[in-house]
Amino acid sequence: MDPFDAISPRKVLERVSTLLGCSQTSNEVATYLDNHDELKHLREQFLLPKVAELPPSDLTLVDGTKECIYFVGNSLGLQPKMAKKYIDEELDKWAKMGVHGHLQGSRPWAWAENNIEELMANVVGAKAEEVALMNGLTVNLHILLLSFYKPTAKRHKILLEDKAFPSDHYAVESQIQLKGYDPKESMLLMKPRPGEEVLRTEDILDTIEKEGDSIAVVLFSGVQYYTGQLFDMAAITKAGQKKGCYVGFDCAHAVGNAELKLHDWGVDFACWCSYKYVNSGAGGLAGAFIHEKNAHTVKPALTGWWGHNLKTRFRMDNEMDLLPGISGFRLSNQPVLLVCPLQASLEVFAMTSMAALRKKSRLLTGYLECLIQHYYNKDKAQPHKPYVHIITPSHPEERGCQLSLSFSVPIAAVFQELEKRGVACDMREPNVLRIAPVPLYNSFSDVHRFITVLGSALAASKELLQ
Ligand SMILES: *Cc1c(COP(=O)(O)O)cnc(C)c1O
Repeated sequence: MDPFDAISPRKVLERVSTLLGCSQTSNEVATYLDNHDELKHLREQFLLPKVAELPPSDLTLVDGTKECIYFVGNSLGLQPKMAKKYIDEELDKWAKMGVHGHLQGSRPWAWAENNIEELMANVVGAKAEEVALMNGLTVNLHILLLSFYKPTAKRHKILLEDKAFPSDHYAVESQIQLKGYDPKESMLLMKPRPGEEVLRTEDILDTIEKEGDSIAVVLFSGVQYYTGQLFDMAAITKAGQKKGCYVGFDCAHAVGNAELKLHDWGVDFACWCSYKYVNSGAGGLAGAFIHEKNAHTVKPALTGWWGHNLKTRFRMDNEMDLLPGISGFRLSNQPVLLVCPLQASLEVFAMTSMAALRKKSRLLTGYLECLIQHYYNKDKAQPHKPYVHIITPSHPEERGCQLSLSFSVPIAAVFQELEKRGVACDMREPNVLRIAPVPLYNSFSDVHRFITVLGSALAASKELLQ
């Protein structure tokens, strides 16, 4: 039996526990799944922080020499082991040959990022020439909106989620103002239905159908950062374009997490950062995508010398020979020291495929979901027992690896108790913990350890509150 087959995680747990003659919650199940995990060797490509290295170091209740439970790759991915080597290579080159490094060595600075665009394109389902690595995410979003958002009196709206990531919200707001429109009228914010926490695809498509004639750009995230919901990007793209809108996605939480097919879906444009699931380090080089169908019609509003044809770029004749598509949107030469860690991570992605990562991810996150439901469902018979509610959709097609958990008890205390026990995760006000088991480097044993630790953290936080 291949436990990673597409049967539901619950069935997998039933079968494995029957096979092993143990309970579904036993540690043996996690060990068995780890032993059968074809991607488990990828963990060795990353540096896992030790419990003692994490704050609050003086309060740690567990063995400090152990690896921590790192479930926060949705915020900052782990350091690939090769990152330092590559950065050192470029620092050495700089020391030894100075300016000649632009054209010399295995990573000539003048086109260092061009060498890894194909690896990046594979991760997002695009052609290499549809992808550029440059700037930061919010900068790229602005640069793209400058060209794709061309409001007219009739068609001036941007449709986005009501609780989009703040930076995206501000970017859209300021772009609308820049073009002389009023965000109150031109920002169309989609809320979930009353009493619901995530958006229904049917409602998104319905809104596009009804409002589409006045919408210039449909801009959703691929995976919602707070709820973990994975949007049906193919359906949204189709519906938006049918109404004559441009459709773009912020893939910050989707890249390296969900299987993206930006090219095949016909997405007009997209952008993402690379420090979350793509492990390039804080402030890493961001990505941007423009579909080849727009390569000759959508031009950059702002240009710089890096958008000039590489062959003649350094002739300096001040006659722009603009590269088509996203390449023409490049402004500055790219920081090679940021190319290095991104290269290190993309090479790990190239050792597998997003399809294989997703297959593991479904089971890994499904396993976490099953264990949470087993221990922490709301229990009417025990009204005082703390319970955990999963906000993230249960269907694997509607989520990536992250589960967003809300608690019946105040989360600040739970979060603190988890940290003391060597868990790195992320707390978002008002009351959500985001837990991201990342298929590249997390194990089934990590999930099992987490569940055990969550039990003691809840017990300890209850005592604290009494
Ligand atoms: C992480 C994230 C950002 C961060 O923007 P930067 O420009 O990289 O600082 C923006 N938008 C979304 C949706 C994100 O998830």
